[in-house]
Amino acid sequence: MNFDLSEDIIAIQDVARKFVQNEVLPRVAEDEKNHTFQRDIVKKMGDLGFFGCPVPEEYGGSGLGFLAHTVVTEEISKASGSLRAGFNMQTMGTAREIFQFGTEEQKQKYIPKLISAEYLGCIGITEPNAGSDVSGMKTKAVKKGDKYILSGSKNWITYAQVADVGIIYAYTDTQQKYKGMSAFIVDMSSKGISTGPSAEKIGWRATPTGELYFDDVEVPAENLLGQEGKGFKYCMASLSNTRLTAAAGGVGVSQGLIDEAIKYAKEREQFGRPIGKFQMVQEELGRMIVETEAARLLTYRCAMQKDVGNIHNTLETSMAKYYSCDVASRVADGALRILGAYGYSTEYPVERLLRDAKLYQILEGSANIHKMIIATDALGYRKANR
Ligand SMILES: Cc1cc2nc3c(=O)[nH]c(=O)nc-3n(C[C@H](O)[C@H](O)[C@H](O)COP(=O)(O)OP(=O)(O)OC[C@H]3O[C@@H](n4cnc5c(N)ncnc54)[C@H](O)[C@@H]3O)c2cc1C
Repeated sequence: MNFDLSEDIIAIQDVARKFVQNEVLPRVAEDEKNHTFQRDIVKKMGDLGFFGCPVPEEYGGSGLGFLAHTVVTEEISKASGSLRAGFNMQTMGTAREIFQFGTEEQKQKYIPKLISAEYLGCIGITEPNAGSDVSGMKTKAVKKGDKYILSGSKNWITYAQVADVGIIYAYTDTQQKYKGMSAFIVDMSSKGISTGPSAEKIGWRATPTGELYFDDVEVPAENLLGQEGKGFKYCMASLSNTRLTAAAGGVGVSQGLIDEAIKYAKEREQFGRPIGKFQMVQEELGRMIVETEAARLLTYRCAMQKDVGNIHNTLETSMAKYYSCDVASRVADGALRILGAYGYSTEYPVERLLRDAKLYQILEGSANIHKMIIATDALGYRKANR
């Protein structure tokens, strides 16, 4: 497979790099420290076309594809995990989901506003007692005439407190497990929706994460996404895309950490020479670089498969997500070791990037869940790509 990037992708990568230099790096440390979410910066990302890569031009996207989405996500994640969230909230878990399963009217109404970040999106899957086991959710939607009445709660929802529109998963038939779940496009200003913050986080502080409560919320029947009872299938399809973004995030944060470690290893002198001259520091760096490159290749392969229409590549998506997100923590550990005491300080970005890196092992399917998908496929118990 050829991993050369097209001129169009190199051009948007360059825009993303400049954006990080000019708009993200000057403020990211302060925003993370103060838990400040800057809606304007997400809007700028929308205006620059960062969220529209895997969406066709007719809905306001660029049609540049999944690899372009991956490359841009990687650039932003080098500097900020909080801003990486937007690539799933605006694109993969919402706009792209509506593109795959929505009606023409829903596509026209929501996709352009999500990818331009005029609307902020959120994805409501997780609940207090339903994490890895999505089917354990309790939120339900009961049909009454031309409306559904939504009741229940969600937890750990990125953008919960600021979202304008959400893709919310709920049971329309509680008697059936996977086949009783449906997905809804919900106007987050609807009567009966309230929010509160989730538990305080150690990282990703410049992005709000909260609880959502649905107290008999009326959702027009026309806001059902696709067909009733297909919600679990749509959720898995959405995760297949959001996991690619997470993998790109893992690659990005690893690269950000490597860049910091290299800079420091060339500057810091001990025993009369830069620490980069010591073989054991080189060994650490060598491992960090190779693991990150391997993660990048798995991630690009996954994106390129999707670009040629293989969007249900669950196995390769799990490989990319598991490996990239696990590598990020190992690379963070190595970078911290190379920086020594300064790595442990808040003077350098390494500690913040380390906190960004840890989240990738949890989100979008934990490391265990992906290893399970990969191994059960290999054992022939359950085919991943269907
Ligand atoms: C900052 C942040 C933002 C988030 N944003 C969103 C969002 O926008 N929308 C949303 O819906 N959710 C969101 N989440 C929730 C996230 O998707 C869940 O945390 C994730 O699915 C894991 O669920 P859990 O934390 O409940 O872990 P659990 O499912 O309780 O798992 C705990 C541990 O048990 C292991 N485990 C569980 N089941 C198995 C098994 N069968 N085999 C082996 N090991 C297993 C896991 O690997 C993990 O190590 C967010 C979470 C965080 C922290």
